Amino acid sequence: MTPFDFPQAIVDHQGSGVLELTWQDGSVSRLPHAVLRASCRCAGCEQARRHGAPPQSAGDVRIAGIVPVGDKGLNLAFSDGHARGIYPWPYLHDITQSL
Ligand SMILES: [Zn+2]
Repeated sequence: MTPFDFPQAIVDHQGSGVLELTWQDGSVSRLPHAVLRASCRCAGCEQARRHGAPPQSAGDVRIAGIVPVGDKGLNLAFSDGHARGIYPWPYLHDITQSL
């Protein structure tokens, strides 16, 4: 079992637009909502990427809803109406490393 299998705490900071995940090893990921929006891997966004038009990362986009997907990760809904992205825990951890 890897330390980032799943977070022990999830805190959504709407004011600053940051999703904070505390992993099992105590490390903390602070993921800007706009980065998460731009990192969406739903079929529509992946297709847009292949056509050279990656998902927009509007600076003021906010997470509008967080839905757990079993123990696999999160389904995030955004204030621009986009709600199709599934974010598995390892992917969320990877995004942190790339910030
Ligand atoms: Zn998407």
